[in-house]
Amino acid sequence: MNLEQLRIGHGFDAHRFADAYDPQRPLRLAAVQLPECRSLLAHSDGDLVLHALSDAVLGAAAAGDIGQLFPDSDASLAGISSAIILQAALREAAKRGLRLINLDITVIAQAPKLAPHASAMRSSLASLTGLGADRINLKATTTEGMGHLGREEGMACHAVALLGPDA
Ligand code: MG
Repeated sequence: MNLEQLRIGHGFDAHRFADAYDPQRPLRLAAVQLPECRSLLAHSDGDLVLHALSDAVLGAAAAGDIGQLFPDSDASLAGISSAIILQAALREAAKRGLRLINLDITVIAQAPKLAPHASAMRSSLASLTGLGADRINLKATTTEGMGHLGREEGMACHAVALLGPDA
């Protein structure tokens, strides 16, 4: 493979927490439900890990962003599963002859603690992307109490995706 064929992309997303726990809208991260956690306010299911990852894939493929694929002004998309958004981003990459090689994700949240869910989230990402778990890294950090994330107003996520030619 020619190194020139490699493409790297970055995605970022942030969402505000709902005021109270809503059992109808559980917190979903990487398509894993985190029971008893406040959900995130969003037009979709609010899965900011999959949103950041989808934007990283689209970024690497020079294919725009998820707002262009799934406008939040489109009422028919309300509550859409973010797994559908990720699949659409991977399809855009495939159309351009690109496939995922590896990904690295950093969730920034003062709460909840993600360590108990990290393994399930990684497995979920493996099944959603078709990547081996050894090509998926998932990190969580706090802001040491600083700023809006430190005040637990919401969560944020960065994702980096490396894509290469679909051999
Ligand atoms: Mg989002």
